[in-house]
Amino acid sequence: TEKSRKTADPAADSSPKLGTDKHQNETTSKKKLCVKAAKEHSIPEDLNKVLENKVMETVLDLSYVKLSVLEIMCSGDTDREGIVSKSVSSHSDLIPGVYEGGLKIWECTFDLMEYFSEAEIEFTNKTVLDLGCGAGLLGIVALRGKADRVHFQDYNSTVIDEITLPNVVANCINEGRRMGSGKDRKASKTPSKRARKAEGSPNVLNRCRFFSGEWSQVSQLLLSSNKPFSKYDIILTSETIYNPDYYSALHDTLAELLDKNGCVYLASKVHYFGVGGGIYLFEKFIEKKNVFRTNMVKTINQGLQRCIMEIAFKDSC
Ligand code: SAM
Repeated sequence: TEKSRKTADPAADSSPKLGTDKHQNETTSKKKLCVKAAKEHSIPEDLNKVLENKVMETVLDLSYVKLSVLEIMCSGDTDREGIVSKSVSSHSDLIPGVYEGGLKIWECTFDLMEYFSEAEIEFTNKTVLDLGCGAGLLGIVALRGKADRVHFQDYNSTVIDEITLPNVVANCINEGRRMGSGKDRKASKTPSKRARKAEGSPNVLNRCRFFSGEWSQVSQLLLSSNKPFSKYDIILTSETIYNPDYYSALHDTLAELLDKNGCVYLASKVHYFGVGGGIYLFEKFIEKKNVFRTNMVKTINQGLQRCIMEIAFKDSC
């Protein structure tokens, strides 16, 4: 029911109802959330396929899938007839089960991108995780900043397949031209025009990995995998602390995956009305755990109050 739904930003009409399953009550949803398995998504060899049927838009010189014309495959169907256009008047209609908001780009992503420029955050040669990535713009900025490796995680696998991966591919394709003037770029590009350019640009993708699933499960997958894994120098996370029920999993995931001298850049609204989470509550949670130190490095007062927090291990240099 509407009452059992939670939203990170009820002020915005189009905001998704987060952490809920349309067909289940809240208690069942939470249970389901706890066991949502982690999965690594492979990068298709044919990158043209990733961008097939996608219409891209640009913001701040970054390409992203235009959600209003997002087309998703019917499960099991692989031919063109199997492709169904969905109206996205309700984002959560595209996602089976619990949806955590990754289909839309949330405003704190832009706050964090602005902060990277202002504070001249260095990504060169760094290992980066975009945690709760959604569109993945933060990770894409890190890739452009010559990060050595960038991993993307979202709760929902549909978000990774239909939004994050296509966005990374689209921006890799544009990588060469980006160094020139990006301003004359068209706002939207048709799939056929891009298809020719998808060849020969997999190098950037070799530096990426994609994961879906609940945070603790993803952490477990990474740490127990046979593939070599080194902890992250930088973890980027925007609009992920709206629900206090997830604080423990989030905190422990940061503690498990961050390098001992690494840094988390967290962007958030000060308070998430209707859900109860917010920056001060999370700050208190961190204090109690006594593992990390925090530093509020920026507050933004236009619209809903927002801020950027840096988090590092207490005993780091
Ligand atoms: N960072 C993106 C942005 O700023 O546009 C998306 C923000 S969206 C509101 C919240 C993100 O956190 C989603 O990508 C969701 O998948 C992830 N998330 C929330 N709770 C999670 C959980 N318990 N486990 C794993 N991922 C979670």
